[in-house]
Amino acid sequence: MLPAAALPTPLTRVDDPEFAAAGAELWLKRDDLAHPTVPGNKWRKLAPNLELALAGGARGLLTYGGAYSTHVRAVAAAAHGLGLASVGVIRGAELAGRPRNWSLARAERDGMVLEFVERSAYREVATGGRERREGYYVLPEGGSNGPAVRGAAVIAGELADQQPDFGPRDVVCCAVGTGGTLAGIAAGLPPGPRALGVAVLRGEGYLEGEVTALHRAGYGREFTNWRLVHGWHGGGYGKVPPELERFARWFQATHGVPVERRYVAKTLWAAYGLLRAGEFAGCRVTVVVTGVPDPQQ
Ligand SMILES: *Cc1c(COP(=O)(O)O)cnc(C)c1O
Repeated sequence: MLPAAALPTPLTRVDDPEFAAAGAELWLKRDDLAHPTVPGNKWRKLAPNLELALAGGARGLLTYGGAYSTHVRAVAAAAHGLGLASVGVIRGAELAGRPRNWSLARAERDGMVLEFVERSAYREVATGGRERREGYYVLPEGGSNGPAVRGAAVIAGELADQQPDFGPRDVVCCAVGTGGTLAGIAAGLPPGPRALGVAVLRGEGYLEGEVTALHRAGYGREFTNWRLVHGWHGGGYGKVPPELERFARWFQATHGVPVERRYVAKTLWAAYGLLRAGEFAGCRVTVVVTGVPDPQQ
């Protein structure tokens, strides 16, 4: 059985003197609490896809990712809960004969069959001709497709219900990996509030296009109520410079919220940085906590 999601996720205010001094507010949308086995934005993005897979009579789910992919683990857990098979196509043929890291071990424990492909071939396998496998519902790397964007839009819908005067002074911030979550939040916002995506990788010059393409895939149109900031990736995907680590520990200790490092820490870091740069004067800033820390963190 797949446990039920705990929705709407809590919206909590962070009592922070720096925000207060700027006439601003900081709130957290606790999507890390969305689901016990498929947490965070991975649940939001998978939910509509799981419905489609089941409605189409799929016998399994197939997806792609790196050796520590949260999306791969989420697909394995979801398939396991639904009684579906799952296949994970993993970047790195050299990993096939090695002991599994914690992330792949967890996916295997959930019944996922792992297939390892050469790094040089992975990009084409993952994005190219889209593998067709009899009876399998295929999810793209990172899980961002049209249905996923519509699933993430529910986050914005919940905020509109939870924040009675949700309007032009609201800024909703989230991390951006593939852009599906940001695309969904922007699409789900009522007129007034804006969405701000924090790129967690070096995405200058292409991430905006990805978000726009996802809007077309999910809604058949474009949206103008969002933007991306590129200065807070800390050197690239998975990089956590000492300054960011210090910030994450401080936030965790001060506000008692577990801070996942690759995405959530960078988003909070950007929120404070932009506040200090004067960008949020008078704003109500809501950071979406899109996931939980890794077990060894
Ligand atoms: C996967 C992930 C993201 C990235 O979401 P996209 O929709 O790919 O941009 C953000 N935060 C966390 C915690 C994640 O695991």
